[in-house]
Amino acid sequence: MSIDLVKELNSEQAKAAANINGPSLIIAGAGSGKTRMLTYRIAYMLEQGIQDREILALTFTNKAAKEMKERISELTKGNYKHITATTFHSFGLGLLKQYIQYLGYKNNFTVYDTNDNTSLLRNVIVTLGYDLSNYNISSLLALFSDIKCERHKEIQNKDSALEEIYNEFIATQKAYNVVDFDDLILLPIKIFEKRPDVLNIVQERYKYILVDEFQDTSLLQYKFITLIAKKYQNIAVVGDDDQSIYSWRGANYQNIVNFEHDFPTLKEFKLERNYRCSGNILEAANTIITHNEKRKEKKLWTEDSKGSQIYVTSNEDEEEEAYYIAQHIKDRSRKEGLAYSDFAVLVRTNGLLSKLETALMENSIPTQVSGGQSFFDRKEIRDLLCYLKVIVNIDDDVSLLRIINTPRRGIGRVTIEKLRQHADKKKTSLFDALSDFAYAADAPVSGKTKEALKNFVQMVIGWQNLAENNQKASLLSTIIDDISYREKLHEDYPDSPKSVDYKMQSLEFLRQRISRYEKSNPDTSLRDYLNLVMILGEENSDVEKGKVNLMTMHAAKGLEFNTVYLAGIEDNIIPSSRALEENPANIEEERRLFYVAVTRAKKELTITYCENRKDRMGENHLCLPSRFIEEIPNQLISNKVAGEEETSTEDKLAALSAMLEKLRKK
Ligand code: ATP
Ligand code: MG
Repeated sequence: MSIDLVKELNSEQAKAAANINGPSLIIAGAGSGKTRMLTYRIAYMLEQGIQDREILALTFTNKAAKEMKERISELTKGNYKHITATTFHSFGLGLLKQYIQYLGYKNNFTVYDTNDNTSLLRNVIVTLGYDLSNYNISSLLALFSDIKCERHKEIQNKDSALEEIYNEFIATQKAYNVVDFDDLILLPIKIFEKRPDVLNIVQERYKYILVDEFQDTSLLQYKFITLIAKKYQNIAVVGDDDQSIYSWRGANYQNIVNFEHDFPTLKEFKLERNYRCSGNILEAANTIITHNEKRKEKKLWTEDSKGSQIYVTSNEDEEEEAYYIAQHIKDRSRKEGLAYSDFAVLVRTNGLLSKLETALMENSIPTQVSGGQSFFDRKEIRDLLCYLKVIVNIDDDVSLLRIINTPRRGIGRVTIEKLRQHADKKKTSLFDALSDFAYAADAPVSGKTKEALKNFVQMVIGWQNLAENNQKASLLSTIIDDISYREKLHEDYPDSPKSVDYKMQSLEFLRQRISRYEKSNPDTSLRDYLNLVMILGEENSDVEKGKVNLMTMHAAKGLEFNTVYLAGIEDNIIPSSRALEENPANIEEERRLFYVAVTRAKKELTITYCENRKDRMGENHLCLPSRFIEEIPNQLISNKVAGEEETSTEDKLAALSAMLEKLRKK
């Protein structure tokens, strides 16, 4: 192997890549080759004799990690297999697998996602005797997450009910032997603080650390990583303050300032040449972002030609917009032989995905949607995952409650309440209570219920035995058969055999996924798989070959596409109505998101907005184009889209005044 940094990188990138000892900070704009530089840096480190197992590269999505590994493997001819390139969450999970017992958890812990946490919190509120309708569960979960991660020190106004709910929520998570996403970062820190010997082992293992998308690391993630980096100080972070788009999640570009403070010997590198976008797109992006006041001044340049202008177009409503985009992609791909994977359609919110997905589907365009409702959130998938979760962690009462009567097996509410009381009294898991009732002569349930409980207990024990023999994919089929899931679905949807087929198909996909995982990871357990699914489900942003990529702007971070459509670019969508109502700082964050979206495009950018849009209640509203569109200099905008005849200036003006007239009338 021979890595020629100077040949593959520009001189500034090469300097940054070669500075492998000591701390480095690289803050640079979109498409300036930060990620590329990191990849070459790793290849170079290996060439310099650094052990692959000593390298830890943290990226924002699993996809980015995968890409980085593949690229390094290409560069190094597949010789180095022990690089840890992963996300913060997966890395935290790996540490917990090894060390969680130091915090009093059992080793067979499982991961709860937002969905599980929601059920758990509801249960806690009801069990404590509070009225569910008084609480907004998702804001409560957000508040609890803030408290847990010390973003808020304590509950405001000393609300004793909230305090009680919070304490019970945390205690129950531990009793169920589950950890949530916050814990994946928080608990490793606690372990490091409690056990310096463990921290030392980890520091000795990962002597070289690299972090991509550093602007979006949370304060907690920052603390996590700097604890490890402290000893050897070989840490390179790359990011772009202009692309910080997760501050609502506690990501904090304050970390850039902290880094300068905590690693005073750092070397700083600037990358200013953009290799991604053609001239007009880059100029638009540069101009948009200068409207933000709080930023590190930087200006990107490119040697690329100006390329095509940015096409801005309006449509009557979102239906028309979706069909316009679908039709357009189809024409372009047909006429110019472009691959579908060269196209991306980006939107501000999840809610905007489905109209576009439908339009693309109806035009027979293969599409990959990311950032919408995850596969793992479908009801049938959740149901079966909960079966598996109970099998690997019998203390998980939330999952048990979900499956105990799904499908219906005659274990009613009253019985479940009695089981809960029994479990509470004996301080055992619900499953233990269930077993007690199934076999005790004096159990306070009818003979029929007892039979149902016994059946259920026996099935679970049977599945646990199968799981120990490690046949994950076939275990799933066995469960589906044992619980007669298909038959029950037919009972639930008597008039819709198609939707039963669809659901069974999803389950078949799940089986295939598990089976694939089993083959490529023969040494890992069912629990490892489930925990991975919980983490990956949230960050599903695979780019698939041969498919148009439809995704949220957040999910598009770090990616690039030849031709990009930004749909629904209206005030109240981007910037969101929330940002417009609340404070100007939020508008800056929205503008950063828009900057991220614009800079995903390599060659062509089309921006669309609607004149009318229906709200959730189905009511029509007039829309205005996003104020960010106005921030793009006029000379960069055209209403001639690639592949169409040029429109004369008079026609353009006529079209514009007709549109204004129409808006005014409404
Ligand atoms: P973002 O901020 O969006 O994450 P980035 O700074 O990480 O962008 P990259 O994705 O690494 O940028 O690079 C953008 C594109 O430019 C990629 O296609 C990359 O291969 C290409 N590129 C970067 N540097 C060079 C270079 N020196 N020579 C040729 N191509 C380059
Ligand atoms: Mg990048």
